[in-house]
Amino acid sequence: MTTLLTVNPEHLETADAKRAIALAGDILKNGGLVAFPTETVYGLGGNAFDPHASEKIYAAKGRPSDNPLIVHIAEMDDLERVAAEIPEEARLLAESFWPGPLTMILKKRPELPDETTGGLSTVAVRFPSHPVAQAVIAAGGGFIAAPSANASGRPSPTLASHCAEDLDGRVDLILDGGPVGIGVESSIVDLTEERPVILRPGYITGAMLKRILGDVDTDPAILPREGPEDASFRPKAPGMKYRHYAPRGTMTLVEGDDDEVAAYICDRAKEAQEAGRRVAVIASAETASRYGELPVYLAGRRQVPDEVARNLFRILRQCDEDRAEEIYAETFHEGELSAAIMNRMEKASGHRIVRVPSGYRDNRKEHEYDNSIGE
Ligand code: AMP
Ligand code: MG
Repeated sequence: MTTLLTVNPEHLETADAKRAIALAGDILKNGGLVAFPTETVYGLGGNAFDPHASEKIYAAKGRPSDNPLIVHIAEMDDLERVAAEIPEEARLLAESFWPGPLTMILKKRPELPDETTGGLSTVAVRFPSHPVAQAVIAAGGGFIAAPSANASGRPSPTLASHCAEDLDGRVDLILDGGPVGIGVESSIVDLTEERPVILRPGYITGAMLKRILGDVDTDPAILPREGPEDASFRPKAPGMKYRHYAPRGTMTLVEGDDDEVAAYICDRAKEAQEAGRRVAVIASAETASRYGELPVYLAGRRQVPDEVARNLFRILRQCDEDRAEEIYAETFHEGELSAAIMNRMEKASGHRIVRVPSGYRDNRKEHEYDNSIGE
């Protein structure tokens, strides 16, 4: 049975909040699972030093057990308890970005169970800034393994109701701390190689990391690419090889000039509707009005990428709830956060990307004209 409790992150001093956090702590210390809000997405927590708790996390999510978990801490000094070596770069990054949405890969200490790190000799560590996350981690003993609190493959949860949708009956407690602030998972940087490597783009951008570290590489697995996933491809972060964030419908990203994109999406969506399929259009606030009667899911203002990041997973889930079969999405390349946004959108679409040729609308008009003459 899953208990659901609400905790206001701004009022952790109330008796109700204290009771909820204490319950979370007891569950975690006894090997149970708790879903809780962080500043990025909701996490599914278990005691990182308890191999059975990690196994339960994999089972609850249906996650392949070679996809390691991120260990969350709530005190700077606790880093030494999970990481065997702390290079200077890690100290600098921690000073700049912790607590916050940055995960670092470091060599692991032998005491940390293999179950938690998916058998790797390295560990992913993060110190989140969300007050509820910090309180839960501290109450649970200080070391909480927590992947995103979604069923494996589904969009990450940005609301407590998303956790309940995927994990009801599979976790002991869900703490509802309201909507998350960022909406995409933490940036991951690997510090175990000669040069730092970004394994997952997030709110802490490549440019921000470069300001602290100088040169930073990017894992080829997260560079934009087209076409279906290649099964033989082995990215450094094991999680990146799995289908992820995906809605149930077929999602297509449509690239190009705004007007051409809108025209193309209108055409394809209407064709799909005529064929009896349920469609959804993911569009920006600025371009939403171009889709007429089609069902538009608002990602946010193009000029405010934070909004798009915060809304993305919620609208992908909304598409599922509305049983959309064909999803056409605009792309979002504005601002530094676009690397994180497009990484999720490309994975969600299984890298189905259409580039609309310039002149599409003009050719279409001729085409329509031809048709009408023929009739
Ligand atoms: P999630 O917890 O759902 O945000 O996913 C965690 C991500 O961190 C996955 O993509 C993992 O593959 C990655 N990760 C966790 N531990 C490691 C590690 N030791 N080395 C590389 N990637 C890791
Ligand atoms: Mg995840």
